[in-house]
Amino acid sequence: MVSHTRRDNSLSFPRAEGKQAVRGFVVVALLLVPSVASVLAGEPNGEVSVQDGGSQVALATFECTRGHKVETRLISLDSGAVKYTFRYCGCVDPSHGDERPAAEGNFGMPEPTSANWYWGGFLNILINGKDATRYRLADLRVTETGRRGAFQVIWAHPDADVGLRLLMLPGANHVMAHLVWKPRPTATPTPTSQPQATIKSVVVRLTCYPSFFTTSRHRHGDRHCQTPRIDKHEPEILELVPEKDTYLYFYDTVFDVAKGEGDGPCAALVAPEALRCGRVHLGDYSVVSELTLRPEVGQARLVFWDFTGHKNAEAAAYLKAHAAEDLARLAQTDFRPEAVRRIQADRLQTEAVGLLTAAADDGKPYRARMGEFLTRVAVLKASADKGDWKAEAELTTVLAGSADLFWKLKALATLNENDNGKK
Ligand SMILES: [Zn+2]
Repeated sequence: MVSHTRRDNSLSFPRAEGKQAVRGFVVVALLLVPSVASVLAGEPNGEVSVQDGGSQVALATFECTRGHKVETRLISLDSGAVKYTFRYCGCVDPSHGDERPAAEGNFGMPEPTSANWYWGGFLNILINGKDATRYRLADLRVTETGRRGAFQVIWAHPDADVGLRLLMLPGANHVMAHLVWKPRPTATPTPTSQPQATIKSVVVRLTCYPSFFTTSRHRHGDRHCQTPRIDKHEPEILELVPEKDTYLYFYDTVFDVAKGEGDGPCAALVAPEALRCGRVHLGDYSVVSELTLRPEVGQARLVFWDFTGHKNAEAAAYLKAHAAEDLARLAQTDFRPEAVRRIQADRLQTEAVGLLTAAADDGKPYRARMGEFLTRVAVLKASADKGDWKAEAELTTVLAGSADLFWKLKALATLNENDNGKK
């Protein structure tokens, strides 16, 4: 009876349960309280769909030496308003050791357009001068789909574990990014210390071809970078003032959708806390932004916009009106996977014990599995609480995988209660 009361206090679904109600219980148990961050973020209704094309391995053509095998993987985030596709690529030939070379870059954005944020590689993360995206993947997986869409990548750079989470909210026109770098151990820990690599420099390099691949198509454009402070055009090296240049808007006055030319412009921002200085190299083909981050901060947040299909004036007006608001939302966003944000481990344990008690002898065959599940959750949660992204992703998977176990136990507990009621 005690467990009966407890369950009635903690759960609120109609007693006339069927399969749906039982499944509802599992959802309630795992996703207990709406996260404060998501409420602050003002997430609109709607869904973000995420597609993971999986790892594809093929022989190199242009990416590396002929005969080498190259891994490619496409992951898309579709907010309902815009679909962004990201492309991971790297040569997995054993001769490269922990490196994964790829001629056009390792991390690109082929959609909404192959121009703008470069389809082959738009992002380099230089830690102590070496590009993290060129190293072995420690993790690459979808972490959320539905109310938000997200995936994470972790690269095993020699000096740091470098993690990148990309996230979209329903209806959003942009992708939010969270980048972290954690020094790696350099030697076996002693009882008193854990020697770690020193991270002296962190530079994020962003490459775009605003609106159109001019040179390769034998055309001339006029590349611009506009910030709230200044507007410069090619050829120029623009030195950024971090507190004033709060967004970077890349456009081409020749290749403007308003003139029936090009795909439309693009933009980016880095939240100012992590930005020490930066410069934008405005060439007549690529536009490369080198953003020098503060290594001691350990993380940075960024936004990427691709305004494909929009006129330059529309994108400029959007940024003037909304970039500050998008930056504020970026700062408030909790990038941890939904299940990790919402888990209440103590409550999960209480529910599990209550169900096992209520299911009595019928629950016996499931006790060991439930014990293993709870132990696994405790171990993963301890690592997740220390900011281990891999553990957070694994915890999400383990929680989702427990739905069937809870469903069975709930059904058994209900049957058992009904039997007791008849006696
Ligand atoms: Zn190779």
